[in-house]
Amino acid sequence: MQHRLIWFRDDLRINDNAAVSAALNCDSDTRISAVFLTADDEWESFGYGKNRLYYTEQLLRNLAIALAQHGVQLQVVRLPNYDAQSRWMGDFCQREQVTDLYFNQEYQWNERIRDHQLATSLDGVNVQSFVDRVLLQPGTVLTGDGRYYSVFSPFKKRWLSVYQENNHLPYQTLNMTRSQVATPQWTSLCEAPESDLSAFATDERQIQIDLKDFVDHRLADYDSNRNQPSIRGTSRLSAALARGLLSPRQCVRVAEEALSRPIWDFPAGAFSWVNELIWRDFYQHLLIGFPRLSKNKAFRPETEALQWRNNSEEIESWKSGQTGIPIVDAGMRELKQTGWMHNRVRMVVAQFLTKNLLCDWRIGEAHFMQFLVDSDLGANNGGWQWSASTGTDAAPYFRVFNPVSQGETHDPDGQYICRFIPELANIQKSKRHAPWLGSIPSGYRPPIVDLKSSRQRAIDAFKDLKS
Ligand SMILES: Cc1cc2nc3c(=O)[nH]c(=O)nc-3n(C[C@H](O)[C@H](O)[C@H](O)COP(=O)(O)OP(=O)(O)OC[C@H]3O[C@@H](n4cnc5c(N)ncnc54)[C@H](O)[C@@H]3O)c2cc1C
Repeated sequence: MQHRLIWFRDDLRINDNAAVSAALNCDSDTRISAVFLTADDEWESFGYGKNRLYYTEQLLRNLAIALAQHGVQLQVVRLPNYDAQSRWMGDFCQREQVTDLYFNQEYQWNERIRDHQLATSLDGVNVQSFVDRVLLQPGTVLTGDGRYYSVFSPFKKRWLSVYQENNHLPYQTLNMTRSQVATPQWTSLCEAPESDLSAFATDERQIQIDLKDFVDHRLADYDSNRNQPSIRGTSRLSAALARGLLSPRQCVRVAEEALSRPIWDFPAGAFSWVNELIWRDFYQHLLIGFPRLSKNKAFRPETEALQWRNNSEEIESWKSGQTGIPIVDAGMRELKQTGWMHNRVRMVVAQFLTKNLLCDWRIGEAHFMQFLVDSDLGANNGGWQWSASTGTDAAPYFRVFNPVSQGETHDPDGQYICRFIPELANIQKSKRHAPWLGSIPSGYRPPIVDLKSSRQRAIDAFKDLKS
């Protein structure tokens, strides 16, 4: 008898899941098992925080219930690292006579090494891996001479033409007639999150409602609203996409259905959302094309020589949202309180840390990894290296964001900053982004750094690097 094992990772859903769909395409005599393996010590060394783990736990609970209703029991096994996962897999496959193993591909270096070793060591098991996390498989969007792109615009152009050449049919959803099994128990991955995560959907039904709500009500104006952190202008689907409660294909499909046309014919406003999904693909492709990105290394090796200041007091002020620069402090407090931060503000706080405070981008990347519910190596590393001017297609080093003008442009009334720094609500709107221009309200502090001279210091440090 066939025994198929589905190994869930960051793809915690049943519908439109490539590995699940393939595994369930069988008759009812086939035995089907499912597993999720942790790597507690290794994940701790990657800096995965409680928000991510707690959210994963919630998704697993709902996935286990959904699978049990369809006659598949999901085991969650606590293990210390990827070596232990490989050993567990070998033992389980042998003991339970697994004939076929199904999983979706992951693109970070350690995960790829693990999967490669496993595929070559599992004797007698048919190992099948699938492309699921991205819209286009890494390796299918290459330059004319077969290299991975390192600049987004030509990547996007090529991506769109490859996308148009291919069919993108949904993976068949679950259709099984098996009797229900008991929902399994396991030791919780994380008892409580660090932030209030109640805004994030944890089951497939709710995330589809959230997706549809965004597409029906906010997609058309996405381009004009996406940079305003005070309003709900973006989809806020990143956590679901990062942990795989939602697939990028589902995002595209729901948008295409609503607009009754393929993405390449979308009006500009809606296309700019698809553009973000292409950025998402871009950063995953880069992980394969440039493995050093998974190894804590700068994309531009010459920037490794940069003389970062790494002042520990300043870093603490930045982490706790106490820099005296309102948009930076609001963003850092939003991150701690909600486990999420608006993209515009992510860029502002990242530039402030790496340019005005001249701190190594890896410090910021690790802090985001600890708190973001949507933490993802590709996007996080990409965002940090872009902001620090050390990455692919990065912000030019001499274009340093001014956090005051960023605030005034994207949060003109200061609504966003007052949500997280209520003491600023009592001062004139025109001074909210630079309260030091008047009298600083009690409870708030003067800036820890002079924006003008610190900007110049960063530019000089990058110039030194060049010379
Ligand atoms: C310093 C920094 C760190 C970041 N770290 C992460 C991270 O760990 N995980 C993460 O998912 N995103 C990260 N981003 C990208 C981006 O900020 C978030 O994806 C976005 O804010 C999520 O909000 P949303 O779901 O409303 O996005 P929307 O604007 O609705 O975009 C739709 C989806 O596209 C993807 N996306 C959007 N922008 C980007 C981008 N710039 N790069 C890659 N994918 C993108 C996300 O999956 C997002 O859900 C980071 C950006 C910066 C500047």
